[in-house]
Amino acid sequence: MGSLMKTVVLLCVTSSVLCTPFINKLQPGQEWPTRSSVKQPYHQLDETENGTISDTVATEVAANEEKAPENNKPKIKEDDVERIDYSGAQVWKVSTKKSNAHRVISQLASEKLIASWGGNHTSIDILVKPKALENVTATLKNKEIAYYVMIEDLQQRIDEENPPLDENELELQDRRGHRMTWKQYHRLEDIHGFLDYLAKTYPSIVSVNSIGKSFEGRDLKVLRISDGKKTNKAVFIDGGIHAREWISPAVVTYFINQFAENFDVESDDIRNIDWYFLPVVNPDGYEYTHKSDRLWRKNRKGYGGCAGADLNRNFGYQWGGKGASRYPCSEIYRGSGPFSEPESKAIAQFFKNTAAEFSAYLTYHSYGQYLLYPWGYDNALPPDHKNLETVGNLMAQAIKKTGGSEYKVGSSSGLLYPAAGGSDDWAKSLNIKYTYTIELSDTGRYGFVLPASYIEPVARENLAGLRVLASQLNKE
Ligand SMILES: [Zn+2]
Repeated sequence: MGSLMKTVVLLCVTSSVLCTPFINKLQPGQEWPTRSSVKQPYHQLDETENGTISDTVATEVAANEEKAPENNKPKIKEDDVERIDYSGAQVWKVSTKKSNAHRVISQLASEKLIASWGGNHTSIDILVKPKALENVTATLKNKEIAYYVMIEDLQQRIDEENPPLDENELELQDRRGHRMTWKQYHRLEDIHGFLDYLAKTYPSIVSVNSIGKSFEGRDLKVLRISDGKKTNKAVFIDGGIHAREWISPAVVTYFINQFAENFDVESDDIRNIDWYFLPVVNPDGYEYTHKSDRLWRKNRKGYGGCAGADLNRNFGYQWGGKGASRYPCSEIYRGSGPFSEPESKAIAQFFKNTAAEFSAYLTYHSYGQYLLYPWGYDNALPPDHKNLETVGNLMAQAIKKTGGSEYKVGSSSGLLYPAAGGSDDWAKSLNIKYTYTIELSDTGRYGFVLPASYIEPVARENLAGLRVLASQLNKE
């Protein structure tokens, strides 16, 4: 972050008055419609505590029995934080076909020898710490649990993931009026600069609004693309709920670029929709992955000895159920209550206040290549699950036809494991019909550390999937 920008951001944190001139204003007549007398099908928040912790989640560490006090002092951290070095750490794919596998993995995780990167019904990917390699190898061999090494040296992959732009690209960058490319993973400043650039360049169709602030005071910028037709459907798309899933904001901004820059020549399916994009739900975590810990997942709100809640366990539908943790040190910490985190709360408030009636909610994550529909909180299906399955399959076919990647389609609890408090379940609880969590590439070769050269192919094939959904919405 440049020093001027840093000063501006810090000023914004200190005083909203000082900040006002820097906030991108909406064009006259472009006020986003807010809900007034329209009744919202808004569910009561489930306040009951449910202590069930999924025994399948290897990251669960029952270290903090007591709920840690919240540290409510938002402040953007300085850049001189220490960078975590993953030299010698490996990522393994471990078969879970043997009945004891989950128990063994949970045990290794509780001893802090490994961390889970996620899995499905046949395998789980684990990060093995360098000092634990011998121990974990011996344990798995002893228990006859099969595994293979996906990443030999994690730090090497991190170092190679995001190379600098070549000279041609740098020159183009100077001429374009924004710094965003899809050949590199960009910092938040570039992403937000790109959104503001589009609003300034295409004021008749593009507008940007901050729907709230992150814990550390960063804007949660939503970009809308709309030609204002009364008959338009509305779609909400977000990315970057989990900080380390860099491919997600990259793909969401690719969609934005495609629709905004080519709106005049876009298909009617695209032009008949009001598009709302929130490319970085978790800006504090995102910046933290760039500056300090490449593999950070949660937001950055302080909870005593451990930082961060898992925003995708913090949404207020069936909050606190299976696959979410009550312990702040856990990677899947649910937060101190439903919508306790400023980032998830801002989204809930936005949906509560907007007059837009969303027909679809898509949330992009990585990795695994899945198109998941509700429910996530338990092995249950919504009444329209067949419809969600059919459209999901059509999207998956379009993805495969365009780029060759195979995406599995199913309910999140069924295809993966139950995880309560996800944004998708909450969106579905608002009666948003086409609600999907999309787990982007890959299936584990690079995992979260997907090289930047994959951004364009992954985005292109997923744009094809999104077009299928747009076409479906236009038929209804
Ligand atoms: Zn995720």
